[in-house]
Amino acid sequence: MNEQIITVNNLTKQYQEPQVSGISNISFSIKRGDIVAIIGESGSGKSTLLKCIYGLLKTDEGEILLNGKRVLGPDEQLIPGNAEMKMVTQDFSLNIYAKVYDNIASMLSNTDVAAKQAKTLEMMERLHITKLKDKKITELSGGEQQRVAIAKALISDTKVLLLDEPFSQVDSLLKNQLRADIKRLAKETGLTIVLVSHDPTDGLFLADQLLILKQGQLLQNDKPETIYQNPSHLYTAQILGNAIILDAEQATQIGLKTEKQNVVFYPEWVELKSSWNSRRFEVKEVYYKGFYDELLLERNGVKIRALQLNSGEHKKNDHVQANIGRFLEF
Ligand code: ADP
Ligand code: MG
Repeated sequence: MNEQIITVNNLTKQYQEPQVSGISNISFSIKRGDIVAIIGESGSGKSTLLKCIYGLLKTDEGEILLNGKRVLGPDEQLIPGNAEMKMVTQDFSLNIYAKVYDNIASMLSNTDVAAKQAKTLEMMERLHITKLKDKKITELSGGEQQRVAIAKALISDTKVLLLDEPFSQVDSLLKNQLRADIKRLAKETGLTIVLVSHDPTDGLFLADQLLILKQGQLLQNDKPETIYQNPSHLYTAQILGNAIILDAEQATQIGLKTEKQNVVFYPEWVELKSSWNSRRFEVKEVYYKGFYDELLLERNGVKIRALQLNSGEHKKNDHVQANIGRFLEF
């Protein structure tokens, strides 16, 4: 069996109105059983890409292959979509007046009622929603509705689950749980999951493969750790959130030389020490983070952040030696 389950070749889908937008010339492939996160800000084309993969949108150019077979567009078949994939959108498309159990069970036929019941209960168990069995959808929180929608999508032998902003309705504690559950589901069932999000932390913690989308272009496609350690564009570093980005003038002020416009580094690349070549910074703030502190440091009017693993070692207004062990130039 081929390792790749989905291949996207030179995919272009442009909208002309009200202005030219969409996605252009996107190519990548997805390994069976992987979790793939597509990260990009609002309007970057994430939902468009997902709908194209599922066969809901007619593409302008290129093709999508599922197990080597071309995914048909909405103009090529009576019912748009693909039987082996399921898509969960932000509106969940649940029957809000029906009970949780009936929403999920409705996906299965009545030929074997006992099997239908067993399968529905098993899927509810998997997604930790057994307690909600007899509740109506209107009585559930956003996060609970999200789980019901995923259970509903998975129950009819789905090979690929497409999730559009799956964490947008979920508060941060439940988010971690849902992330862990999605990861577990994928590993247990061999399901392939493609999720899109505007929040990079979703991708970094969850995904086997991460795609960065900007204005309809695919900027980078790699393992999350590789993208984090080696962002190929300044934009990628910006969207990952944690990076310190300085212009060339600011870089000079803290003793970094660059021929480029920007230097980028992470707080964990800043070494606090007292060697001869390190530089003195003033501690402006100490942010308590639990098992470490994040320090806001300043030198010649330029602020950077650094991590301090021995919580409390340096305090506000202290002077510390800091060396930028590694930095990237753009
Ligand atoms: P995202 O999901 O990343 O927020 P979308 O794929 O929804 O982005 O949209 C990408 C771009 O295409 C946006 O500029 C959006 O306004 C535009 N767009 C999306 N759907 C349509 C449509 N049906 N008609 C015209 N423009 C659209
Ligand atoms: Mg969207």
